[in-house]
Amino acid sequence: MARQISAPRGTRDLLPEEGAAWSRMEAIARDLSDRYAFDRVDTPLFERVELFARGLGESSDAVEKEMFRVSGASGSEEERAEWALRPEPTAGIVRAFVEHGMHVRPGPLRLWMLGPMFRYDRPQAGRYRQFAQWDVEVLGDPGPMVDAELIELAHRFLAEAGIQDAVAYLNSIGDETCRPGYRQALIEYFGQHEDRLTDDSRRRLQVNPLRVLDDRLLDRELAGGAPRSIDHLCDACREHFNAVLRLLDGLGLRYEIDPSIVRGLDYYTRTTFEFFVAGRRGQQQALAGGGRYDGLAELLGGRATPGIGFGLGIDRAMIAAAEAGATTGPGTLVAVVSADPDVLEPRLRVANELRAAGLRVRPDGSSRKLGRQLEAASKLGARWAVIVGEELDQGNVVLRDLSAGEQRELPLGEVAAAIGSG
Ligand code: AMP
Repeated sequence: MARQISAPRGTRDLLPEEGAAWSRMEAIARDLSDRYAFDRVDTPLFERVELFARGLGESSDAVEKEMFRVSGASGSEEERAEWALRPEPTAGIVRAFVEHGMHVRPGPLRLWMLGPMFRYDRPQAGRYRQFAQWDVEVLGDPGPMVDAELIELAHRFLAEAGIQDAVAYLNSIGDETCRPGYRQALIEYFGQHEDRLTDDSRRRLQVNPLRVLDDRLLDRELAGGAPRSIDHLCDACREHFNAVLRLLDGLGLRYEIDPSIVRGLDYYTRTTFEFFVAGRRGQQQALAGGGRYDGLAELLGGRATPGIGFGLGIDRAMIAAAEAGATTGPGTLVAVVSADPDVLEPRLRVANELRAAGLRVRPDGSSRKLGRQLEAASKLGARWAVIVGEELDQGNVVLRDLSAGEQRELPLGEVAAAIGSG
């Protein structure tokens, strides 16, 4: 036999038994996007490396270490080095916003997207090289109300997915007025403890000291004593943050202020947040993360436009929902069978009528004995079998309850209602 080929490391195949749970996550995302009046957008899976380098920051982990480069089959060396699979959605969406001159549309714009992201990170449980995110972005709204609205939206997704005990961890990292002072305070603090920093952090300290706080290997005690951005906010940023907190209090949402939530990308300003299940704050356990990025559109060549958004990890939400006991199966299965091996077309016709009535239906096209067909239907998980025979001439079929072993004849048009009440 030929050697088998396995999936690339850090990727997952969605297997049939997980399909219903995955579809449910997608359905919640679509439904909430619609109910919260967001419009769908989609951007390419790959973009120019420069977009991420400029938007996320050259020294971010996402750009420095985790970029999935794409090379075309032909073309110049230069062209081949140009693209990367998207590690996150915001840079691409804001690029599209600028490129299509969307600032002239009636705003604020509320956009959503659902799809795969790629990060060349070390794979482990809950951390994949390809994973899916539901992403929402609002462009042109300085807040603070929309900040609270988005945090509430992420809460609602998780609650509807069956994860009741999710907590938003919040911070404000200031803006161009107060960030320089905060950066300086971090440089001074970590500069005194350089020997306790990782090589990466020592190198990044001068370029972007906020990133030191984001270092997964940062000494915890050192992190605990570090200056906090909320103590360095200018009046405008403090008022903005306090207003967000008051709104969240008013909505009765669960949140905690956490000065360590600085997010690893250059574009963030003011409000930043991540969602975890209460008490489970491991590296691979964040369910969603986001924040405000008031300078990003300008950085990408557009007009100054405030923005805020979050990305919610579909893979992780699905795992957390399963752990919280949320069960999802496909709809109740109905088998269509017949004792007559020549009766094929009526099986399809009956199956179609039942599908039109909203049932999930699987016809058996074999010429096996009726008993065998019923056995096979049970093994496939069917709860009901519709037996097609001569009664069809009068518009009737036999409906069999496969678990109770009882059956009765009834008009085809009444099967869906009978199943619904049985
Ligand atoms: P981030 O922008 O890194 O905060 O990502 C937003 C969300 O996407 C996280 O809160 C996770 O739920 C999910 N996520 C990020 N990276 C991964 C990954 N490597 N594998 C699976 N999910 C991820």
